[in-house]
Amino acid sequence: MKLINHYIDSVFTKEDALLENVITSIQENGMPSISVSPSSGKLLTMLVSISGAKQVLEIGALGGYSGICLARGFGEDGSLMSLEIEERYANLAHKNLSKAGFGHQVSYRTGPALHTLEELINEQKRFDFFFIDADKENYENYLNSCLELAEPGALIVMDNVLAGGSIADPDAKPKRYTEFMKHFNKTVANHPQLESLLIPIGDGVTVARVIG
Ligand code: SAH
Ligand code: MG
Repeated sequence: MKLINHYIDSVFTKEDALLENVITSIQENGMPSISVSPSSGKLLTMLVSISGAKQVLEIGALGGYSGICLARGFGEDGSLMSLEIEERYANLAHKNLSKAGFGHQVSYRTGPALHTLEELINEQKRFDFFFIDADKENYENYLNSCLELAEPGALIVMDNVLAGGSIADPDAKPKRYTEFMKHFNKTVANHPQLESLLIPIGDGVTVARVIG
């Protein structure tokens, strides 16, 4: 799995100084190295651009790596709202999105995402693309909130659904959320409102389309 991912990253993604600077800024600020992989980032860009999505909601900003990848997909007239519990992280992400030229197209709301999602539902906000990548234990709650905020046909994309391989590979080191993710993947796969597939790049990215 690791070798294949490395192969895909090296053949299908190019050196990207902007994204590499984001990774450096995350390290310099003592933040965790848990941004999406280069291929997962490219997939996000492609999915936003192929779907024509313009109102994107991200749950879990960290340093803005996935935020830049999402914004690259929507061009001049799209916008990204990003939810992040750590104000310090949201500030760095905003700085990095600004350096990438998307500062005026992104807004951050800090605090526990579940609470912010309730606010957005009360404000009757609508989005046509979602990227779920925050605390794994809340994925099912995030999915339910996203469904309430989704335009018909919206895409909901979720990261880390392989949990380092531990959802299927008995030799992979189990994670705190392995059992949870196994259950979550089944929920997504069998959800009556979703058509979905897990794509095994990076740490696993599930792409789901809202069909009902
Ligand atoms: N999407 C980012 C990586 C996100 S890492 C990228 O690929 O570039 C997960 C992020 O979720 C961290 O920044 C963490 O602070 C944030 N997070 C964790 N729990 C959260 C919560 N309850 N609400 C909002 N954000 C949360
Ligand atoms: Mg992730």
